[in-house]
Amino acid sequence: RGRRAADVPALVERAREGDARSVARLISLVEDASPALREVAAALSPHTGHAQVLGLTGSPGVGKSTTTTAIVRALRQAGKRVGVLAVDPSSPFSGGALLGDRVRMQDHAGDSGVYIRSMASRGHLGGLAWATPQALRVLDAAGCDVVLIETVGVGQSELEIASLADTTLVLVAPGMGDGIQAAKAGILEVADVFVVNKADRDGADQTVRDLRYMLSLGGRHSEAGHWRPPICKTVASRETDSGIEAVLEKVEEHRQWLESSGEGHRRRAERAEREIEAIAVASLRGRMGDVHGSAALASLAAKVVAGDTDPYRAADELLAEL
Ligand code: GDP
Repeated sequence: RGRRAADVPALVERAREGDARSVARLISLVEDASPALREVAAALSPHTGHAQVLGLTGSPGVGKSTTTTAIVRALRQAGKRVGVLAVDPSSPFSGGALLGDRVRMQDHAGDSGVYIRSMASRGHLGGLAWATPQALRVLDAAGCDVVLIETVGVGQSELEIASLADTTLVLVAPGMGDGIQAAKAGILEVADVFVVNKADRDGADQTVRDLRYMLSLGGRHSEAGHWRPPICKTVASRETDSGIEAVLEKVEEHRQWLESSGEGHRRRAERAEREIEAIAVASLRGRMGDVHGSAALASLAAKVVAGDTDPYRAADELLAEL
């Protein structure tokens, strides 16, 4: 990217001291799949494992940005250092260029205890599944007590992001048919805490009843020893909010359950597995890029054309060469 090589140990050192620019630079390095990536990952590793990761997902307009801001405010009042990763799988922008970000930046301007960062898939090597956990590691190493990962609830991506979180909050709003959509998208399964936001609007109690009914229908939540996701009602706005403290209490209860049940450990192990897989796939894809147009590939292709081998055996041979 035309920048001079990064002094990774110095960056990590300054990030750990709370220097926001160094945190931003490190996230850019991982996001851009810089050649320094390996060095960054190795330097961060000893300082990670401390942050509590909260996922927050829901349909566009349900109030994710506003609720995130309110949660950050409450966590800051409790003296916690907070990181926010706003993940938008559909957006071509990244690096804090989103309008919502600028609004939130204003709310937390001058507060060195908050880092906010937008991530978009752009042309990422391995997509968000690969870049987001690396950014998470940066914020963790930088001393964030809590990292919030906020993502739009569409398609597969939010399920992937939810798998990064210790506790996943699913936001719904009255009158959006969200409850039903949520059930379809498998959101019921990933939710640890339901938040019915816009509780100042008509229909909030009906939405709570709908959710409660759907939860009663079964799924993993109803098995013995499993966590039953509580349903909280909130009003989030930039001026005033309500219900946020109750949400954070449920998050804390869930954290305790994760610890006592062993589920927390299981989730972290699964997260590491996915991370390794994503890196391996990206690495393989990179090496396949080198194969494209190579003499080895051309010679295998000639054999397939001549009927000396079939494409499956040719592909096996190619992979063995890698
Ligand atoms: P996102 O797309 O999920 O991030 O939603 P936003 O946080 O941008 O909120 C969408 C709109 O809903 C904004 O105009 C917010 O001001 C409004 N909003 C958010 N929370 C509430 C709430 O609790 N009550 C009401 N009445 N409006 C809200």
